[in-house]
Amino acid sequence: MFNHDSAPSPGFPASSVGRLVIKIGSALLVDPDGAIRIDWLRGVIEDIAQRHAAGQQIIVVSSGAIALGARRLSLPKGGRGSLDDAQAAAAVGQIALSHHWAGLLKDQGITAGQMLLTLDDLEHRRRYLNAAATLERLMALRVVPVINENDSVATTEIRFGDNDRLAARIAQAAKADAVALLSDVDGLYTANPHSNPDAKLVRDVRKIDAHITDMADGGSGSGMGSGGMASKIAAAKIATSAGAHLAILSGLPERPLSAWENGANGTIFHAQPSKGARQNWLAGRLTSKGRIMVDAGAENALRDGRSLLPAGVTQVEGRFVRGDVVDIIGTDGRLIARGLIEYDAEETTLIAGKRKSDIAELLGQPVRPALIHRNHMVLL
Ligand code: GLU
Repeated sequence: MFNHDSAPSPGFPASSVGRLVIKIGSALLVDPDGAIRIDWLRGVIEDIAQRHAAGQQIIVVSSGAIALGARRLSLPKGGRGSLDDAQAAAAVGQIALSHHWAGLLKDQGITAGQMLLTLDDLEHRRRYLNAAATLERLMALRVVPVINENDSVATTEIRFGDNDRLAARIAQAAKADAVALLSDVDGLYTANPHSNPDAKLVRDVRKIDAHITDMADGGSGSGMGSGGMASKIAAAKIATSAGAHLAILSGLPERPLSAWENGANGTIFHAQPSKGARQNWLAGRLTSKGRIMVDAGAENALRDGRSLLPAGVTQVEGRFVRGDVVDIIGTDGRLIARGLIEYDAEETTLIAGKRKSDIAELLGQPVRPALIHRNHMVLL
């Protein structure tokens, strides 16, 4: 499903891509002793300005707040020693980061906007739609939004933790055509290129299967950000299933987007046909409230595009209420679908495995057409 070292895929993320999300990792923006790499940032912004002038709509997702703040506060471990340190570092670093972005974009005649989001903001449908509407308005006003996770309030349980997946979720919310992840690696390799001289660059990925996910070894190479290849592949899944291409490319050159367009290394994960807005939002969610195990019959029915009925449920886990998002797990233990459930956890447990005729009696109320309706479900 991929080509090794073939010719680079032309044209992406060239100016022809209408709406582009550019994610910039901490290791590019902040040098190892915690100072901002201002000349490099100026170069990236020249790239952005060129595209902006050509009519491309650009959204920036910028890391670096924790790394920058840690230096100003003289915190150990780059501010990542504890959650309290990371939150304080982010508060101090974010204001400096925004200052640099706003100033350098202004030098190019571009107005910057700032959005700080938590995972929760994008997991709740109404807040997600709200963020999407704000992005749409900013695009119409020709503003370049600079987005980061709101690390000062996000706790470990409700964090993205890495801006790769945040960028992919933003691409989905903004209906972007493509995402460019600029990092200190120049793409996905068949093995870790630092330790294995035979590792080959994978230029094109058309389907993210187990073969591809196995290539990611996890962990951030620089130790400064929290990304690593595993989070980049998770981001690629979210973006491509929402109909956006995603590229991993090196941010090390002075003008990284120009370098990429001129043939520098990179990996493109190609967009899949988009499933529709609600389905994309469901597929890209990172959290769910429960797990519904189903039998082989139900699994086949779901794959045929049918709704999930209580009869096919073998086990129910989690605390959820009607309308919550739950994962549907197949007989081999793998996640097969995700959807909005029609019943609370207690009711679901009660009616699991039961036929329609028994359910009305068990619940003492009219039976809903499905446990999870196919229109509120996405196959994964
Ligand atoms: N949001 C974090 C920061 O601004 C970076 C997360 C990441 O490493 O991707 O420092």
